Formats: sequence, structure tokens, C-alpha cells
Amino acid sequence: MSMQKVIDQIDYDFDQFSLDSFISKVGEWGHTEIKLCACDLYSNLNAFGAYIPIRDGLQMIFVDENLPHLHRLSTILHEIGHYVLGHEAMTYEELCLLRGRNIKAIFRRDNSADEREAELFAHTIISKVQDNMSYSRFRASCVPVGDTYKRYFEGLGIL
Ligand SMILES: [Zn+2]
Repeated sequence: MSMQKVIDQIDYDFDQFSLDSFISKVGEWGHTEIKLCACDLYSNLNAFGAYIPIRDGLQMIFVDENLPHLHRLSTILHEIGHYVLGHEAMTYEELCLLRGRNIKAIFRRDNSADEREAELFAHTIISKVQDNMSYSRFRASCVPVGDTYKRYFEGLGIL
């Protein structure tokens, strides 16, 4: 599906933009919960953001906790882009098999078409809300990684 079609389908009122409400609308569209977790991702993983599909109905997005507002917003939107555009991502189960290996390499950014499309998605969303920019709207609720996953992500070196 084209990016524009996906955005139309999500059917979100960008005049009322807040990151929280956008994320929950995307979740409604995809029949999934989207958890956002802030951590020291750049030190741990050499990445600003990471998207990990945990299972049907649960997506997890990690974002570096030290990014300035706008960079944080565009990083989160980029990772949401990977989800809504149906890009392939290492699943939780696949990552489980890799425990102990160098996962930094897996999350290293490359210049693939998927990366460019996710970036274009982030820029497109930002251009829709730029007349309406206020940092309070960029605040997004991060949740603690549940106990079930915490130890696992620690083991992988993400947390
Ligand atoms: Zn990406």
C-alpha cells in the first residue's frame, strides 16, 4: 500500500496533533498496542530509535532518552513508519535466538529503500503539523518495559 494511502486510512485529524493521540490512533488502525520506551539507546545500540514487533497486538518502539524534542519526534515517527508501512523487522522471537551476539550490527542504519520510506513518512507527518508546532504536543507517554520483557531486553543490551 502506498504511504499516502496508509496515512489516509489512519484517518487522523492533524489539526489536533499530539504524539500520544497519533500513536493511539495508529494502534487503533492496526489493532495493536504500541508501547513507547525511552532508554539510553544510543549508548547501548548505536541507534536513535528501534522498532521491534513483539507479537500480534503488541509493537514496541524504543527511543533514545537524550534526544532534543524535534529529533525525538522525528525518530518516533520514523519507527512508527516502519510499522505502518509493513517493513520487515526483526521480531522479538528472532531476536531471542540471537541473544549474546552483536545486535548492534542488526540495528545499524543502512540506506535501504525502507529507511528512506520511513524517513519520508516522518517528514510527511511533521509537514502536516508544522503550523501547529508546540513542544507540549510532542510529549509522548513512555511506559516502563514490562517485567516479562525487561530482563530479555537487558540481556540483549538494549536496556
Ligand atoms: Zn529506520
